[in-house]
Amino acid sequence: MVVDGSAVSREIAARMLRETMEDAEIVTCGSVAEALGSLSEKRFDLITTGLMLPDQDGLELCRQIRQSETHHYTPIIVISGDDDERLLKEGFEAGVTEYFDKSQGYHAFGLFIKNFSQRNTGLVGRVLYVEDSRTAATVTGRIFERHGMQVVHTTTAEEAIEHIKAAHEGRVQGFDMVITDFFLEGKMTGGDLLHCLRAHYHYSQQEMPVLVITGNDDSRTQVEVFHAGANDFVSKPLVEEVLMARVRSLLLIKHQYVALQRQNQTMEQVANTDALTGVYNRRYLGEHGEQMLKSAESQPLWAMIIDIDHFKQINDHNGHLVGDHVLAAMGKLLQENFPDAMVVRFGGEEFALLLPGVEEEEASARAEKFRQAVEQLHPDGVAVAVSIGLASSADYPMIDLNNLIKVADKALYAAKGAGRNRLCISRPHRVQKGDPAQHASL
Ligand code: GH3
Ligand code: MG
Ligand code: MG
Ligand code: MG
Repeated sequence: MVVDGSAVSREIAARMLRETMEDAEIVTCGSVAEALGSLSEKRFDLITTGLMLPDQDGLELCRQIRQSETHHYTPIIVISGDDDERLLKEGFEAGVTEYFDKSQGYHAFGLFIKNFSQRNTGLVGRVLYVEDSRTAATVTGRIFERHGMQVVHTTTAEEAIEHIKAAHEGRVQGFDMVITDFFLEGKMTGGDLLHCLRAHYHYSQQEMPVLVITGNDDSRTQVEVFHAGANDFVSKPLVEEVLMARVRSLLLIKHQYVALQRQNQTMEQVANTDALTGVYNRRYLGEHGEQMLKSAESQPLWAMIIDIDHFKQINDHNGHLVGDHVLAAMGKLLQENFPDAMVVRFGGEEFALLLPGVEEEEASARAEKFRQAVEQLHPDGVAVAVSIGLASSADYPMIDLNNLIKVADKALYAAKGAGRNRLCISRPHRVQKGDPAQHASL
């Protein structure tokens, strides 16, 4: 909800919000009366208001919102430029969540909102809640529900561990955090549950934040709880605002952890992939190729070097951009034909493949099928052909990856020498097989 006396300011603020939060539904109001009317009809997730409104004061609107049942916890941002003093003195008491200084401009407002909404989405989460008192569980459960959290409740640590186990094994959806009472009705305490999470399942404080509810202010219990790896504790009797503030900050830790994991995955993928062709780059081959060659289940492993014939001419006749398209099409075709192989862009117009666990008949048949598919491809209308060199780990026992590739590269050289657009299999003892028109041999 955007509340502002000026129609222009209202529209600009609404537009910025729409741009920042694409899925949000935005309602604009020109006065306190209008705002209170809409608030009584609908539930809002975020309210922004100016201070000087035509009928009443913006801080008065805040006070009324804080008294309402549905919007008691809804964040309120005051957008203003002129009333700093008043905000400092009265804003906190009126229930203002944050303040944006209009004089920073609307671009800054967009950034501010983006940042704000990121910090305030922390409340959604799946929580494992362990509490043996059913009365306490009902009251607290209602609080969690009111704040939109998904809660699984158990009365014992033993039962909670069953849930953790199921989530750990991927049988049920995982939890974002654990909230546990310290004293429980089973044999195990909340401390034991905590110990199990940290020591047995090795969940870090970031991956699985734990909030412990202690029955008293006994500092020994509190110290113990921190030793066992709790992120935080709250004491009974629970105060809704305090409980939810702690929950919010722990869920935020979890969300940041997940975001970081995702970012790391993306970064790793980017670091391992050739941007033009989408296949692995040489760095990846260097890090994982040798291991693939050495592993028992990869045997026999085939190294293939695939080089585009007369690629320089393709560039010269059609331009570099078309050349790039040809390379990209080649990467795609390789991945389609060899989903079980490590496909690598080895050099400019050269690809290397490590194809594990196939016999010679299959390796050469698939390479030949690929060669024919390239002939049929005509990317950007250009006729393309490839020469392919193959070498098998079965023919060169104890060989390392560098040398196996070197041997395959020699076979490629032979294929080029024999007239291109063909494959050639490297052999330690000059034994030749197959159609001499299509297959040369070293
Ligand atoms: P051959 O049949 O003997 O392999 O001849 P060729 O022309 O394919 O081989 P050569 O090694 O002489 O030329 C390779 C060309 O590939 C030269 C280089 O400009 C081009 N090339 C390398 N990387 C890229 C790239 O990323 N994009 C484009 N468009 N061309 C590239
Ligand atoms: Mg070349
Ligand atoms: Mg070439
Ligand atoms: Mg080349």
